[in-house]
Amino acid sequence: MVGRVDNITEKLARMAMLQYVTESLAYMVSGNMDTGARDYHLEAAISKVFASDAAWAVVDEAIQVLGGMGFMKGAGLERVLRDLRIFRIFEGTNDILRLFVALTGIQFAGSHLQELQRAFKNPTAHLGLIFSEAGRRAGRAVGLHSPADISPLVAPELRPAARELARCVDAFGQTVEGTLVRYGRAVVDEQFVLNRLASAAIDVYTTAVVLSRASRAARLQLPHAPHELRLAEAWAHEALARVPPRNLFIQIFVDHFLKTHFKQ
Ligand SMILES: Cc1cc2nc3c(=O)[nH]c(=O)nc-3n(C[C@H](O)[C@H](O)[C@H](O)COP(=O)(O)OP(=O)(O)OC[C@H]3O[C@@H](n4cnc5c(N)ncnc54)[C@H](O)[C@@H]3O)c2cc1C
Repeated sequence: MVGRVDNITEKLARMAMLQYVTESLAYMVSGNMDTGARDYHLEAAISKVFASDAAWAVVDEAIQVLGGMGFMKGAGLERVLRDLRIFRIFEGTNDILRLFVALTGIQFAGSHLQELQRAFKNPTAHLGLIFSEAGRRAGRAVGLHSPADISPLVAPELRPAARELARCVDAFGQTVEGTLVRYGRAVVDEQFVLNRLASAAIDVYTTAVVLSRASRAARLQLPHAPHELRLAEAWAHEALARVPPRNLFIQIFVDHFLKTHFKQ
């Protein structure tokens, strides 16, 4: 290899980024456990899926960087790759855990929607709930609803990423709601949709975790804080770009709503 090779630099940067996200997830979930939290199953599942996928990608790229040498036994990496492969299978296959992540999140949204359905059965007794919900949805539909602003909580360098994260959380919520309205209980069998919801949940959660860690490093003025800020910013940029666009499922919701409430 001679001179500057951007292709390899990018691979190394991506490996460092995946490692940083994975480590941040481990700190977050173990920190929560240490402070006595008991409801960490969702975060643990996301961490396992992400860590095992990331480890596989990193070692695969490490082999690629070494070229033919990386493939040979002598480099030691092919053994690491083989050993790592099982992590995506045992302790719950990543595929099953992804369904778990999606369905656990949906359960919460589902209970909220059930409450609303009950309210519609006796509208006079629940006018407040119905109007607040209708207002919230109408605001969203015309773009008036603004997502929670979490940017004051992060380092100034990460505020644009935090604003984008808030927008994605909101878009994700709408997508989940639209999915539930469309499929109801049958959503448990919609693995194609569930898989996509899980990917979005993982992207949103991992971004929140790295924004938190890098902001802490900046607040404590740790020597590596500038590097952490760059890693977190790069991850937020990449992960949030994959979260479903705001209107992906809203059309499904609108169609269903019109058919249900305005049928002739
Ligand atoms: C080296 C090794 C060590 C192990 N150690 C232990 C251990 O200590 N304790 C223990 O309890 N187990 C252990 N296991 C077993 C391991 O947990 C299982 O292999 C793993 O849970 C996957 O189950 P399975 O092999 O039956 O695959 P299957 O259940 O047959 O799955 C095959 C594929 O289908 C997918 N799939 C299965 N069901 C569904 C579904 N409903 N919807 C969508 N996709 C689905 C899976 O994700 C997977 O991709 C070990 C396995 C190995 C190889």
